[in-house]
Amino acid sequence: YTSNNPDSDQPTLTVPDSPREVHDLGQAFNVLLVAQNERLQHERQFISDASHELRTPIAAIRGNLSLIRRRGAAHPEVIPESLQFIDEESLRMQHLIENLLHLSRADRAKLVLTDQDLSFLLLQLGEHYQPSIDQPLKLAIDPDIHVAGNAEMLQQIVVALLDNAHKYSPHDQPITLRLSQDATHVNLAVADLGEGIPDDQKEAIFQRFYRVDQSRSQEIEGSGLGLAIVKQLVSLNQAQITVTNNQPQGSIFTVSWLKR
Ligand code: ADP
Repeated sequence: YTSNNPDSDQPTLTVPDSPREVHDLGQAFNVLLVAQNERLQHERQFISDASHELRTPIAAIRGNLSLIRRRGAAHPEVIPESLQFIDEESLRMQHLIENLLHLSRADRAKLVLTDQDLSFLLLQLGEHYQPSIDQPLKLAIDPDIHVAGNAEMLQQIVVALLDNAHKYSPHDQPITLRLSQDATHVNLAVADLGEGIPDDQKEAIFQRFYRVDQSRSQEIEGSGLGLAIVKQLVSLNQAQITVTNNQPQGSIFTVSWLKR
């Protein structure tokens, strides 16, 4: 509990000396305790989710190793398929761990934002990205739009949104990458013509490990960490992210900066 001593620039420690100050101090402690409790609960949930996600591929790897050990000598034909499983599952674990590291790094990151020519950055990114997918990528990028940001993180955000648009929409339907600005905002949007996201899950998809309708997502590779990472990176770049419905179907993810 500090107050400014008029004779010094340094804040000094003071003891509350009125019922009002004691009450305020109590309230301040309460607020701190609640915040700390929430953070601890959040971290505990995160660790439990991460362990759960890692347990699944480890169980598959161990199961296949045991199969090879038990039956490999008598039935060598089981070996290639089991090795294939082990290969795929260990790759899944590697991606998961990389994503977890991304999240913890983004948690701690303090960065300097510099002027970025977002129009140029997106045009370049779009040109490089297109050959990696079989789906048409339409670019609708207004020229000379700048924001304060971190180039590497901005690219990571856009690639993650494009990857999702690609994963969750039919491959004969185009994806659109749009950049525009009005008097108050710069808006970067990735739009697809996929199944879309139900209204009651539009917030939840940004939580760690959340996937819309497990059965729907099951056939599509993913851990539910991508958008949690995107949200953190967007916030580090002092922007906001929202998702809305596209017409006639699909989703639009919009990253927007308030103009200064
Ligand atoms: P992942 O793709 O690894 O599951 P994300 O965090 O990137 O994880 O996305 C969370 C969930 O949000 C996905 O599982 C999917 O259900 C839904 N989702 C994300 N992007 C789209 C999209 N463009 N269209 C439809 N659903 C999406």
